[in-house]
Formats: sequence, C-alpha cells, structure tokens
Amino acid sequence: MVTEEGDVLFSEETIRNRVGDLALRISADYSHVDDLLMVGVLRGCFIFLADLSRRLTIPRSIDFIALAAYDRTTTATGAVRLIMDLRTDVRGRHVLIVEDIVDTGYTLDYLYSLLRPREPASLKTCAFLRKPARLKMKLQIDYLGFDIPDVWVVGYGLDFQDRGRALPDIRTLPA
Ligand code: 5GP
Repeated sequence: MVTEEGDVLFSEETIRNRVGDLALRISADYSHVDDLLMVGVLRGCFIFLADLSRRLTIPRSIDFIALAAYDRTTTATGAVRLIMDLRTDVRGRHVLIVEDIVDTGYTLDYLYSLLRPREPASLKTCAFLRKPARLKMKLQIDYLGFDIPDVWVVGYGLDFQDRGRALPDIRTLPA
C-alpha cells in the first residue's frame, strides 16, 4: 500500500525547477512552429503534461493516447497494445510525445512505430524520468527530466496499483 512515507526522490521544488528548464528549452527549440502537438501517454503523464504545457511560451495543442503492456509480468516480451488512439491527424504536424517515465523503452518504441508512418513533420520525445539500467531499446529522448535508479516510483501522476498519483513529489515505494 502507498503511504505518505516513501523516501522523497524529487521534491515539489526540484520538480518545478526541472519542468521550468524543460519548458524553456522546448519553447526555444519550437519557436518557429505554429502549433506544437503535445501527445500525452496516459495515464501517468497527466500531471507532468499539465505543468509542462502551462510553462511553454509557444502555441500548442494537446492530445492523448493510452497504451498498456499486455502483461506487466512479461514486459520482457515488449508486447504493448493500443487502448485509445489520438483524435488528431498528425500528418505534417510537429509532434512531441510526453511520457512520465521510460523504463524498458518498449512503450516509446511502440509509439514511434505507430506514429512515424502517419508522417508527422517531426517527432520528438520529452520524458520526465528514465531508468537507464532497465532500458532494452536504444531510444533517443530529446528532453529528459531525470535519470533514476531501478526503483519503483510514485507521485506526480505515477501510481502503484492506482495509489500515490496525487502525491506532489516523487517517492520510492516504502519498504
Ligand atoms: P516501458 O514500456 O518503458 O517499460 O514502460 C513505461 C511505462 O511503465 C510507464 O509509462 C509507466 O506507466 C510504467 N512504469 C515504469 N516504471 C515505473 C515506475 O517506477 N513507477 C510507475 N508508477 N510506473 C512505472
């Protein structure tokens, strides 16, 4: 069960500062773009996406996609399925995927294989967290909040069995 007592990995202030850094870089890199399309990967992204999108200084639209591993216990297979597709046609759009956390990388790899054939003008990724020790795919993450060790984290939109999402900071699960 998620209690309030897990170790704090990133405080609210650290998160706020890092989101601000990412927003500055993204706003500068896309300053030439009319309407950046931010694609949030549900469900864990929703708080990060809300904060990031409000700190951007460029025009942007938001859409969501929902994916799930077929079976969490066999993520080694990398089987990911689409639960809810985008409503937006991405052809010719500048698309920024917004992920809460990249673990094995299978989800992101699947997303790239889904969205690339739809011919966006550009396709990049912003992930708040990444676990380098767990990565199975060689993937470029264009904007990254933090690398973390191989621990399960909750808070700031991330859950453990649907608990902990509303915590304002990011914590490891209490032992
Ligand atoms: P990947 O396909 O990269 O292995 O998995 C990515 C997804 O696994 C994330 O979007 C997230 O839903 C989930 N995930 C991986 N590690 C963690 C973690 O430490 N905490 C939480 N709450 N979710 C995680």
